[in-house]
Amino acid sequence: MKKPFLQRAIEFHGHLGPYLVLGLLMGEYALRKIKAKPHFGLEVKIWGASQKPKSCLIDGLQLSTGCTYGKGNIKKYNGKGIKVKFIHCENKKDITLALQEGIIEKLREANDHKNCERLARELYKACPEEIFILL
Ligand SMILES: [Zn+2]
Repeated sequence: MKKPFLQRAIEFHGHLGPYLVLGLLMGEYALRKIKAKPHFGLEVKIWGASQKPKSCLIDGLQLSTGCTYGKGNIKKYNGKGIKVKFIHCENKKDITLALQEGIIEKLREANDHKNCERLARELYKACPEEIFILL
């Protein structure tokens, strides 16, 4: 699996955090799953990530999918848990991904800057199958 370039993401976003990494990995995983082209080939809908630090997920998703607020093909909605839907523009195939319970637990436990960075690096090395669930 070709992972997105983490350094570029940190430069764009401004810091390394677990939600940024989750957005990178989730977007890349979804692109492969629905076989969509980045930038214009899909739409992304995000629930439950309106507030920091969860909203950092959105920057990761913009970088990995190429869907951006400028192009209007990424949108966020209110929701309880994090859930992201990826829709292929041509064949309308879609998948919805959420976080596994164990990951949600780890995010809850990472309560300071150092732990957040450590978790971010740990997640970056993990397989998407260990992080996400298909809804
Ligand atoms: Zn952040």
